[in-house]
Amino acid sequence: MAIVTPIETRPGERRRLRLASPATLEPIDEIGVANADDVRAAVEAARKAQPAWAALSVRERARYLMRAQRVLLERQDEFLETILRESGKPRSEALMMEIFASCDALGFYAKHAPRYLRPEKKKLHGILRFLKKLRISYRPLGVVGVISPWNGPFILALNPTVQALVAGNAVVVKPSEVTPRSGALVGEIFEAAGLPEGVLQVLLGDGETGAALVEAGVQKIAFTGSVATGRKVAEACARRLIPCTLELGGKDPMIVCADADLDRAAGGAVAGAFLNTGQYCCGTERVYVVDEVADAFLEKVLSRVAKLRQGAEGEFDVGPLFWDRQLATVQRQVEQAVAQGARVLAGGRRNPDLPGLYWEPTVLVDVTHDMAVMREETFGPVLPIVRVRDEEEAVRMANDSDFGLGANVWTGNVEKGCEIAARIESGSVCVNDMTMTYGVQEAPFGGLKQSGIGQTNGELGVRSFCWAQPVLVDRFGGRQTASQYPYSRKKDEGLQRFMRLLFGSPLGRWLS
Ligand code: NAD
Repeated sequence: MAIVTPIETRPGERRRLRLASPATLEPIDEIGVANADDVRAAVEAARKAQPAWAALSVRERARYLMRAQRVLLERQDEFLETILRESGKPRSEALMMEIFASCDALGFYAKHAPRYLRPEKKKLHGILRFLKKLRISYRPLGVVGVISPWNGPFILALNPTVQALVAGNAVVVKPSEVTPRSGALVGEIFEAAGLPEGVLQVLLGDGETGAALVEAGVQKIAFTGSVATGRKVAEACARRLIPCTLELGGKDPMIVCADADLDRAAGGAVAGAFLNTGQYCCGTERVYVVDEVADAFLEKVLSRVAKLRQGAEGEFDVGPLFWDRQLATVQRQVEQAVAQGARVLAGGRRNPDLPGLYWEPTVLVDVTHDMAVMREETFGPVLPIVRVRDEEEAVRMANDSDFGLGANVWTGNVEKGCEIAARIESGSVCVNDMTMTYGVQEAPFGGLKQSGIGQTNGELGVRSFCWAQPVLVDRFGGRQTASQYPYSRKKDEGLQRFMRLLFGSPLGRWLS
């Protein structure tokens, strides 16, 4: 049963999609797919609204963020209901990953953006400091398109939107067709916060709508999603010569050193692999544990996995996959791995007791790097564990991947953990915790290799939605340049003498 199915429409009509619940497979909603005309109209409205929005001070814009945070706090149960209906995730996960994280992002940028976006006076180097003054202003780009996935349907639409808005841009958001109403909540909180019309619009639709948004004359695309779509978005942006940030997939490694607290490491592995049913871009998808502690670690992991409750109602720990395509990927990878010699120590099958897209939390051993489950993104509740000789081998295997999003290292020696972190080829690393950098707004977030281009969050993230415009003022009203001509040998000799003094003498070197 597909979660998103096309509804038959007459020629010329907007396409429509029917959505089903991943938990029950019952129909829950229908949406119209915004077409290229709808997208162009939205971008046009955004362009008209943007100058007045940009003319507000950052503090004034930040006030809308604070109002949106209040709306979210007050209406959180209503918002949770939408997210749970579309995703089936445990309430605690939605509360933590979607509502808490969104409140935090809104408050964080309201508080810190005024500082990030304050014009800066820069001291110039060398002789220039006597001649010029430099001021850098952070100017908005114009209209930004945000295209988001289904796994964090609210937070992943909200977070880039907030950063783009506070920087003075108008935003058009296109949430995933798998979880459209959860993405649309971003529009709802800002509408309730009184955001001026046109500054933020949400368009529902699928790939057709996303592709049209890239082509609609926006100044930047902030894309979060798969590598395959990210590549298409990057190609279209390159053709239009607009920047994009791509937050793409991962295959995060976890390294367990012999001196790690094994109880906590086992807890970290289980949370890292099964949070959000494994549909977490920085989910732990490969564990490398040093041989001498591997048996004890494995035992602790299995005992924790045995206690996980998978369900659809009431209190449970692991929900369904959010759409059928993901279930198919998980099933293919696990079955192929088993055919190639992997052993299943837990799960390894679709849950026979639940009607929805439930794959049991799965632990695999005897896995190798020629298996898809170790090379491709799984994005599901699967934890493959590999014994390694030592930490050297763990680092080498961790880096043997096309992805480089996150990683985590577990050790009793934090210094050693940081040294190992510095050798891992990934956008971020956590020491003694599952990868959770995305939730720490100060930390720039992004991926290496196929995991993406650019970084989001924090000062760097907010400024990535700006043009850093230098304004250079001549202290002498342009006298120097005005008397540049005519060139002469005498002037050249003067400059050469000056260069010898500036770059060839201790006083000059001190000055420059
Ligand atoms: P996806 O690439 O299928 O879709 C993402 C979005 O792009 C959706 O809104 C979709 O409608 C839209 N889209 C589809 N075709 C398009 C096109 N041609 N042009 C423009 N937009 C188009 O990804 P998904 O399945 O929704 O999300 C899962 C993926 O997202 C996983 O790979 C996961 O790792 C990744 N992800 C990454 C991060 C991160 O921060 N790095 C965070 C969450 C998810």
